[in-house]
Amino acid sequence: MTMMRNIFLLLLPVCAWAVDIGLPTANHALYSPSGEPQFFQGTAGHDWRSGQYGCVRSGGQQFHEGMDIRCLERDRRGEPTDRVFAVGDGEVAYAAKNAGQSNYGRYLLVRHNWDGVEVFSLYSHLGGFVPGLRAGQHVKRGDWIAVLGYSGTQKIPRERAHLHFEICFQLNRNFAAWFAPKLAKGDRNDHANYNGINLQGINPASIFLAARENPAFNFRAHIEAQPVAFTVLFPARRPPLSWMRAQQWGVVNGPEPKPVTAYEVWFMAVGVPTFVRPRTDVSAAQPQVLSVNQPVVDACPARRIVERDAKRRAWQFTKRGAELMEMLSFQ
Ligand SMILES: [Zn+2]
Repeated sequence: MTMMRNIFLLLLPVCAWAVDIGLPTANHALYSPSGEPQFFQGTAGHDWRSGQYGCVRSGGQQFHEGMDIRCLERDRRGEPTDRVFAVGDGEVAYAAKNAGQSNYGRYLLVRHNWDGVEVFSLYSHLGGFVPGLRAGQHVKRGDWIAVLGYSGTQKIPRERAHLHFEICFQLNRNFAAWFAPKLAKGDRNDHANYNGINLQGINPASIFLAARENPAFNFRAHIEAQPVAFTVLFPARRPPLSWMRAQQWGVVNGPEPKPVTAYEVWFMAVGVPTFVRPRTDVSAAQPQVLSVNQPVVDACPARRIVERDAKRRAWQFTKRGAELMEMLSFQ
């Protein structure tokens, strides 16, 4: 498996430059030894750890998809005034200006291309946007884009104002069409393809730390180095699924000696595809679990995508997992 993976990495487009990223506010305590308590904003009654990414809430059963960055500055009335900056060069993909339509409150998505991978930075609970900010606008790393706040449908007290920040993937570019028939009567999908259900975050702090440590940090290599939690066989499709195209996957094997009959997709425990291997020797009528790395799956109880069947033998998708596979397969 490792050998096969290395061969594939050689076939991928190689970018000579490193990803240029910086933290989204002036709070840089993440980089200081033991600076975490000054950097992460914990939840009510819990310490800084509950502001980190991952299975950090409700004894590991509740997932936090980003990191909560503490507010540093307030005006005389106590309102937060920290400026929020773009973490890297990119394009404003979406600005949700109505605070009452999501638990993200006012939020902003910037689309980046890091080492050939389409990825988004997400800034939420914002107090406001820089005047004139609009979707489609290009931004540079460090550009002032918004102000930290405490907006959202789940009321955040002003004292706990923070920036909820994510680095995330858009799971399907055609999400709104998949989701429309699933909406309960009277419900709306105000944010279309930028609905939080269609955005899966990965650990942002580890990316900033790795990029700071390694001047040649490569985002694609970082993603591909994440532990594989499980692998899934997907039916081969033409054209390849939208998330494969967004990440330039599914097209890496050039002229094919044999037609591709299925894609073997490797996943992180949270459900982010990290690697695609075209297969010519097997086929699949629908997504099926191929293999599971149980310790990696067990380390993330709040995001369970695969489970043992009733006889505790074969692996199958959980309800969440089956839905995710359906969403990823939708064209
Ligand atoms: Zn948060």
